[in-house]
Amino acid sequence: MPIYEYLCPQCDVFEAIRPMSAAAESTECPQCRQTARRRMSVPNISRTGSAAFQLIDSTYRSASEPQVVSGALPATGNRKTQRYSSNPLHKKLPRP
Ligand SMILES: [Zn+2]
Repeated sequence: MPIYEYLCPQCDVFEAIRPMSAAAESTECPQCRQTARRRMSVPNISRTGSAAFQLIDSTYRSASEPQVVSGALPATGNRKTQRYSSNPLHKKLPRP
């Protein structure tokens, strides 16, 4: 349910969680029982945490703080490097 802000003339701004169908233009203040009018507020839409924002953030960061590799890559045990091709057609290629 969305959060609506109401402005009490005597107190201050207070929030109320209501379904959209029950969001009235004015409501009673929970402290002083006066009529408080609904206030327009900025919707709480955030890109923080999304994959797109993380990509943009890392792109900006790489301009000033590039990640530098300082050593050899970690050895992986399951990687087998083949010195020669296993394709049988490559055996027919001319040799030096
Ligand atoms: Zn009030």
